[in-house]
Amino acid sequence: MGILSTTQARGAWAPPCSRKGSVFLDAYAAIDAVFRKWNYRVGPNTWTYACRRITNGKGYSLHAYGPGDKFTFWTGVERDTAVALDVNSDRNPYTSGPLITDMPTGMVAEIKAIRTVSGKQVWGWGGDYRSIKDAMHYEIVCSPKDLLTGIAGRPASAWTPPAFPGTVSKTSPASRVAAWRVLLGALRYKGFKVGVYPWSGTLGAATKRFQRRHGLVADGVVGPKTWAKAVQRLVEIRKAKG
Ligand SMILES: [Zn+2]
Repeated sequence: MGILSTTQARGAWAPPCSRKGSVFLDAYAAIDAVFRKWNYRVGPNTWTYACRRITNGKGYSLHAYGPGDKFTFWTGVERDTAVALDVNSDRNPYTSGPLITDMPTGMVAEIKAIRTVSGKQVWGWGGDYRSIKDAMHYEIVCSPKDLLTGIAGRPASAWTPPAFPGTVSKTSPASRVAAWRVLLGALRYKGFKVGVYPWSGTLGAATKRFQRRHGLVADGVVGPKTWAKAVQRLVEIRKAKG
């Protein structure tokens, strides 16, 4: 059960530099709870979303995968959310030398132990990189569909289920199809890719399987009833294991 590589994360969270709504809030609440428990103060030198490419490379930085809704850390610092998060950059420099950090080892271990309800690691740490060390840097190492299942052991108080984007079918825009792919993927339906793609035959087949299983008209078109049933299943999964 691996964590996503940077390349895989770019695919899973595509497209960069586009609004992502509330999808990151659970993950941020979970890491912030650990910071708070350790009395580790998240200061003003904390950075999240930036629409930029990596230095000397063609790919986007994981900081470009956002912006999601704003999150306020326990210290009152408010930021847009994104796949990557730099905490207290003044005291946790990016360096080619030995690791420099003010983060307690036990705290970092607790952050890395955060899991989704589906069992995936949520946060990876830049201090673990083999060559360079990037102690300020945390990044979400699970996919949107896993994050949508919720954080294990945490009440999802601030969570709101994904809103119906309008009917999803063959002719719908890719962003709308993507929302259905993520939701159906979170319900552990397989056989299609999650991410931004147009409608596909495999997605249609999985949609019909879902509709048949839940007594809906199996037409492969996602209307309000199909969406509502999927959200209901998601809430049940989050409750069962959360
Ligand atoms: Zn970073």
